[in-house]
Amino acid sequence: MIRADSLSKHYGAIKAVDGISFGIEPGEVVGLLGPNGAGKTTTMRMCAGYLAPTSGSVKVHGFDLATHTLAARKTFGYLPEGAPLWGEMTPRAFLDFIADIRGLRGAARAARIGEVAELLQLHSVFDQRIETLSKGFRRRVGLAQAILHDPQALLLDEPTDGLDPNQKHEVRELIRGMSGDKIVVISTHILEEVEAVCSRAIIIAAGRIVADDTPAALAARSPSGRLDHVFRSVTTGQERGAVGEER
Ligand code: ATP
Repeated sequence: MIRADSLSKHYGAIKAVDGISFGIEPGEVVGLLGPNGAGKTTTMRMCAGYLAPTSGSVKVHGFDLATHTLAARKTFGYLPEGAPLWGEMTPRAFLDFIADIRGLRGAARAARIGEVAELLQLHSVFDQRIETLSKGFRRRVGLAQAILHDPQALLLDEPTDGLDPNQKHEVRELIRGMSGDKIVVISTHILEEVEAVCSRAIIIAAGRIVADDTPAALAARSPSGRLDHVFRSVTTGQERGAVGEER
């Protein structure tokens, strides 16, 4: 499971994340929602061990990210925002490299790379330098590296950003197919995506959790039954407080 306790990240006077706590169990597909600047990416980066919190802690499958970073990272795959990749590599070389890092060996390794390339339809660009790929294909390569070792948990920062409608559909299917005994956390602006794939939505605004429930239960809070109306009502008027400021 993933457990965040009183997690905060401050940048000078900006409280990017302001004391949030949550637990995510196997089988859950959680959508991290919030307006621009709410703190989604900062939260994802701390949960992935790529950013040290100012205070608080994250444990992934029992491993504290601050003290057992590598052991924790082995258990999950992470798609960062924008998916920074080595531009001079081809997807083939890049996935080969990731397979090395993830300790995949022998026949299983080649089979898994082929399977993931097939799943994300990478074959047409497999030998093209990543820096020459379109945004959507780069995103797919990023997704491929995140799922390559078939991790127990997946942290995906805006996974369908830049994808065409067909690929959006494919990636949502992939996420649905991954759930079961796994954890999937996606950060997104797309409410339909949350309704389509998530079993739970955590809405954050100004670095704090303002709602945490199933998408259906959240939508039912509005007389219209619409998640976008609830999203608007729980996130408007939420201004980011400075460090030390009373709120
Ligand atoms: P978006 O939906 O626009 O991607 P987000 O919810 O992912 O936004 P974050 O990127 O986590 O939000 O940013 C939260 C806040 O922290 C914002 O006010 C942002 O400007 C600030 N912030 C993030 N990174 C830094 C940094 N390195 N230095 C200073 N401020 C930062």
